[in-house]
Amino acid sequence: MFNSLTERLSSTFKNLRGKGRLTEADIDATAREIRRALLDADVAVPAVRQFIKQVKERALGEEVSEALNPAQQVVKIVQSELEEILGGETRTLQLAKTPPTVIMLVGLQGAGKTTLAGKLSKHLKQEGHAPMLVAADLQRPNAVKQLQVNGERAGVHVFAPHPGVSSEHEDPTGDPVEVAKAGLEEAKNRQHDVVIIDTAGRLGVDQELMQQASDIRAATNPDEVLFVIDAMIGQDAVATAQAFNEGVGFTGVVLSKMDGDARGGAALSVKYITGKPIMYASTGEGLGDFEVFHPDRMASRILDMGDVLSLIEQAERTIDKSSAERMAQKFADQEDFTLEDFLEQMQQLKKMGSMKKMLMMMPGAQGMKKQLEQFDDSQVNRIEAIIQSMTPYERNVPKAINGSRRARIAAGSGVHVSEVNTLLERFREAQKMMKKMAAGGGMPGMPGMPG
Ligand code: GDP
Repeated sequence: MFNSLTERLSSTFKNLRGKGRLTEADIDATAREIRRALLDADVAVPAVRQFIKQVKERALGEEVSEALNPAQQVVKIVQSELEEILGGETRTLQLAKTPPTVIMLVGLQGAGKTTLAGKLSKHLKQEGHAPMLVAADLQRPNAVKQLQVNGERAGVHVFAPHPGVSSEHEDPTGDPVEVAKAGLEEAKNRQHDVVIIDTAGRLGVDQELMQQASDIRAATNPDEVLFVIDAMIGQDAVATAQAFNEGVGFTGVVLSKMDGDARGGAALSVKYITGKPIMYASTGEGLGDFEVFHPDRMASRILDMGDVLSLIEQAERTIDKSSAERMAQKFADQEDFTLEDFLEQMQQLKKMGSMKKMLMMMPGAQGMKKQLEQFDDSQVNRIEAIIQSMTPYERNVPKAINGSRRARIAAGSGVHVSEVNTLLERFREAQKMMKKMAAGGGMPGMPGMPG
């Protein structure tokens, strides 16, 4: 997502570097390049027009900061305008004054609603809510089953219109409106504080679909109607969003399939076109591939300035706290950072799922794309194998690992001696970094991140 936009923008900014002052012609040329980059990224024309207008006005205006050179000032303006077009403030879920909060999902078939229902319920559960899912998509043959599977994986209750499957109610009529209403009743009886209603989509926008969604909306009076849109559909996203906005109405947007190599135009247009904020992003098929959408962080990511905050949050969710605390204690006690610790941290890192996805959130990651692409989790597996071929003594006193020990370790783990050398090199760097952090009283980070 956004890869080529990011590349285009950074090469545009590169051209400004070293200029002492920007002339109007410089700004015009830059604006033209940004405009082309945005259009090629499938951003809707009116959104591009507005964006360029703002950037130019501000760049020509006297908004001059002593601390920044002209090129940096343009980057700063573009960043803040990107943030603006992505919605400005992070929009959080509107909770009902009297529970349950009702969230209805709408969108085309295949947009990712059912998948999102599972992800959102898992997320809400982690936030301390007791969500329940309602399967009101009776159109797609497998949708109910799919929702049940997702609910099970997320560990949340699913109200499905099949007697005896997982509901305390009988299937009223097979009518999605009745199912939604009955689901709501069940949620009240079971004291769930959030209800997520999955609804049917069609392959294209059609009147009957809109009517059904509107009827469900009228019958359940949801606090939030989330429009789920496949970020991969490019220019079509705008027309679809408009149709749903007029036909059913929605309060927020979820961009799904942000992991794909779509050009990102949907993300950058939908708020401008519909006036409705993007609230969440779906980034994969797994239940955990889900993010709260933060316009400021996304703007940084697009400009390859990294999104360290999301990285840390993801780490916090996944990482084993007791291990982190143990590590922190070691620092406090000024104990040595050993290969045992290194291995433990590597294993934590591996747990965090796709390394690439995480590393792409690091500042400047786009510039390291090549290296990152070559990297895969199997490298961590090799590191594990190497460390596991060491004796406990070697792991705790890495300095003792001499030439003959290296040869033995290499043979034991089926790698070349040079790989053992590289690992030890990397470990020493990590050790140094940890020492520095311990001295600075900082949090133990993720040393030795391969790549
Ligand atoms: P629905 O018809 O709107 O309920 O869409 P589904 O939830 O069934 O999703 C359609 C397909 O897209 C399924 O194969 C999902 O696994 C897949 N999918 C959903 N969200 C994502 C995502 O964020 N990334 C990727 N790569 N695939 C997704």
